[in-house]
Amino acid sequence: MSETSSVTLLGRLQQAVSGVIHWLDSDYRAEELLQLPKQPDKVEWVRSIPFAILHLGCLGVIWTGWSWTAVGVAVALYFIRMFAVTGFFHRYFSHRTFSTSRPMQFLIGVWCGTCVQRGALWWAYTHRHHHAHSDDPEDKHSPRQHGFLWAHIGWITSRENFPTDYRKIKDLAKFPELVWLNRFDTTIPVVFAVSLWVLGVALHRFAPSLGTTGWQMLVWGFFISTTALFHGTATINSLAHVFGRKRYDTGDDSRNSFLLSLVTMGEGWHNNHHQHMGAVRQGFYWWEVDLTYYLLRMMSWTGLIWDLRPVPKDAYNPAKQLRGQLAAATAPAPAPAQDQANGSRPRIPRPSLENS
Ligand SMILES: [Zn+2]
Ligand SMILES: [Zn+2]
Repeated sequence: MSETSSVTLLGRLQQAVSGVIHWLDSDYRAEELLQLPKQPDKVEWVRSIPFAILHLGCLGVIWTGWSWTAVGVAVALYFIRMFAVTGFFHRYFSHRTFSTSRPMQFLIGVWCGTCVQRGALWWAYTHRHHHAHSDDPEDKHSPRQHGFLWAHIGWITSRENFPTDYRKIKDLAKFPELVWLNRFDTTIPVVFAVSLWVLGVALHRFAPSLGTTGWQMLVWGFFISTTALFHGTATINSLAHVFGRKRYDTGDDSRNSFLLSLVTMGEGWHNNHHQHMGAVRQGFYWWEVDLTYYLLRMMSWTGLIWDLRPVPKDAYNPAKQLRGQLAAATAPAPAPAQDQANGSRPRIPRPSLENS
């Protein structure tokens, strides 16, 4: 074996070992990873094995079968956790669109952990990066830059997108309890999965008429529900930058979609969100269904959260909306007196529609 190939082999072995350690400790050699030169989009296979297992676990249904109880739990857990994704990972940790107490912040961090989408600090770090570089070459998950599949699922499997850069999220990194949850982000998913199995075993023992078992509950409540939750969430990175309508000229490809807002409890109003990311509400009009906002509003009545940041008035200004600009551009506006006097045509402002 030549010296070069043995060095390459050693490098690969080291990478595989660090991939395995990353299953348990997300901050292992994170500093080094952050220093790595930019790499082409590449899947890091070993580190991604648990993510593959999450998908393969769905096939367990072949052996466990189904029951109304298990399916009901899977559907309920999809929505309970989608609320955590949109209300907490996104609208709280990433954008700080409302305030809460430190104990509550920790509890919602734990709630987020059951979503199996890594820690809240990693989520917020990568998401803020997305807003800073939406659809430009730096964006980690832009369908325009990297293709649909990479934007949907590929980007989270790459080495480059794995570490959390705590220097970029200092407002969250100052809480050691959140850093712990972020570093050992496998802990809560494992406890959650085991709890579902125990629940199924208990139901089988004490309420056999429900027709479920420990393994069936694990397959439906954890594997199927979590995989669906991942793909539901990922539609915002992929489909919401491809499919739907634009209200604002945000300079990126973000879109509004009623269908996606149903799947994601309100995140489908993604073009609205890219325009006013500081607002807690993403459906700006009454017909733009935003379940997460309604639930956050209800939570604020209990005093658990407060200071919900409203949609700025500017959002409703027709001149700031693409259709409003279009209407202004095409309406037969009366000519200014000076132009009439000169016999020249009235000047029509041209809307900026580059990304529509
Ligand atoms: Zn986006
Ligand atoms: Zn956002």
